[in-house]
Amino acid sequence: MQDIEKLKSVLKRIDGRPYGFYRDLKGWYDYGDFRLNVDYVQPDPFAPPSQVAVRVDQSRAGFPEPLYSGPVRRIALEDCLVRHFYRRAQQVSVRGKGTGHSGLLAIDRPSQEVISRSAMVVNDRFVEARFVVGLPARGRTIMGRAALELFLEIIPQLVAGTLFYRRLDADLLKKFVESSEDAETIRNGLEEKGLVAVVADGSVLPRRSGVDDRPLPEEKAVKFAAPPELAVEFDCPNRGKVRGMGIPAGVTLIVGGGYHGKSTLLDALEKGVYNHIPGDGRELAVSRADAVKIRAEDGRPIAGVDISPFIKNLPLGMDTKNFSTQDASGSTSQAANIMEALEAGAKLLLLDEDTSATNFMIRDERMQALVSKDKEPITPFIDKVRQLRQDLGVSTILVMGGSGDYFDVADRVIMMDEYRPRDRTEDAGGIARSFTTHRRAEGGERFGSVKARVPLASGFDPRKGKRAAYAAVKGRGGILFGTGYIDLSQVEQLVDISQTRAVADIILYLLKKYVDGERSLAELLDLAEADLDREGLDCVGDYLRGDYARPRRFEISAAINRLRTLECRGEKARDQ
Ligand code: ADP
Ligand code: MG
Repeated sequence: MQDIEKLKSVLKRIDGRPYGFYRDLKGWYDYGDFRLNVDYVQPDPFAPPSQVAVRVDQSRAGFPEPLYSGPVRRIALEDCLVRHFYRRAQQVSVRGKGTGHSGLLAIDRPSQEVISRSAMVVNDRFVEARFVVGLPARGRTIMGRAALELFLEIIPQLVAGTLFYRRLDADLLKKFVESSEDAETIRNGLEEKGLVAVVADGSVLPRRSGVDDRPLPEEKAVKFAAPPELAVEFDCPNRGKVRGMGIPAGVTLIVGGGYHGKSTLLDALEKGVYNHIPGDGRELAVSRADAVKIRAEDGRPIAGVDISPFIKNLPLGMDTKNFSTQDASGSTSQAANIMEALEAGAKLLLLDEDTSATNFMIRDERMQALVSKDKEPITPFIDKVRQLRQDLGVSTILVMGGSGDYFDVADRVIMMDEYRPRDRTEDAGGIARSFTTHRRAEGGERFGSVKARVPLASGFDPRKGKRAAYAAVKGRGGILFGTGYIDLSQVEQLVDISQTRAVADIILYLLKKYVDGERSLAELLDLAEADLDREGLDCVGDYLRGDYARPRRFEISAAINRLRTLECRGEKARDQ
């Protein structure tokens, strides 16, 4: 540990010299109230900015223990601190006075979801913020005075205003923590009540736009109100009694006219696996943590998946118990998405007709009459959805405005009517009885088996040129992995680019540590989750990172499954 006089003298010494001398800054400095660590120094002003951490002892930071006791509260507190830090850093960051990133001060930018992030660590010993700094230069010449101002005035001010409890809005912190805790209480209570999701009365589900995830302003939004038949009550530790619409386990249809809010409801349920920040509108729109959105995704690769529950007898005798392709069709991609979600442990599937392959979803009476079963490889989802429930205990929520055939297989029918949900289960049942369909069920007796695949190390080639392991993130929806590209643009429950960064490095971590040609994909996901639970996100990076957010196992699995070079051995099959 060096004191800040040392920092001053280094900066004076390297002023006006070539950029590379900034490397001399590396190390820990004692500021009295906090310590600062320059962990990584950028090689030039245009390179990704330098990584800095600031640590305040809890004895000085003074956060009351109840704000960070237990993972749910801790993650919410950390999240709230990141947001506050983000805004303050934006205010004090002085850009435009030098070349490239000179003067930048920034912390990971959070989405509407409250997710565990490596940018902030709170525990009973300290509070640590990790952020980046653009070390100032003119051309490639160090601007020592600007750096001095940054390290001795701006950063200390920023730290003083963000990491000490007494300087913060205590009510806001409490609200963040309590809101997450209430949502988590509901999530944990779903199973006991026989539910898979709950949307509380008063929730605001619609978003501002397709590219703006903030809530639609209150005056434009119709607030959610549960229909009496589906109303449930939860006792939340902070908010007290909460009333809302409970979606029971089983098969639930969401029907209704176009533009009446069906997809908006489903979207909230997809994101309901995460907690949301206060004011988001979806704080108490909560679904099971193992809910997975399923969609068609033509063009994706598939590696050795058993899609035979849905697809058999392809032309040219292609094997669907061990199906591989570099260019899946709409229906085969949707089948693979389901089988892979089940393999990773999903217990709730979410489907929207908007993003499904029609021939995967339905095959009506007339089509059955014209194209006989032996000429149609696809067993439509309608014939499998009840078996999913009966054989595997997997529930489905399905947006289906286009086919009443589904009335025969639904336990519940919710109709969205001008953004208001209504329970139309009985009416749909009556209609199903009076307009009987003569379509034949084609699904056989059982759902079929879910294969546990074993990924081979040879299927992950992270090498690129001279680099032994290369993984870089191209936006939320894509990872460059070795010389290949993993397209995650259709993986909708990956909500944050920082999750994508973590996914990329988790794959490298798994490859280094656990992929051995013996362990199944599900076992690999278990190991990754156990390590992340125990050691936090830091365990996957090879240097201190402030830009990871925790992904779920389903999104890690989705990325592995979209590796174009993936190869699997298909053993460890278990019949369900
Ligand atoms: P559907 O899937 O039934 O066709 P969407 O869910 O796509 O309909 O919603 C149609 C439009 O209505 C979207 O622009 C959406 O933002 C808006 N919308 C959805 N729910 C509400 C609501 N509760 N209040 C106001 N607008 C809403
Ligand atoms: Mg829709």
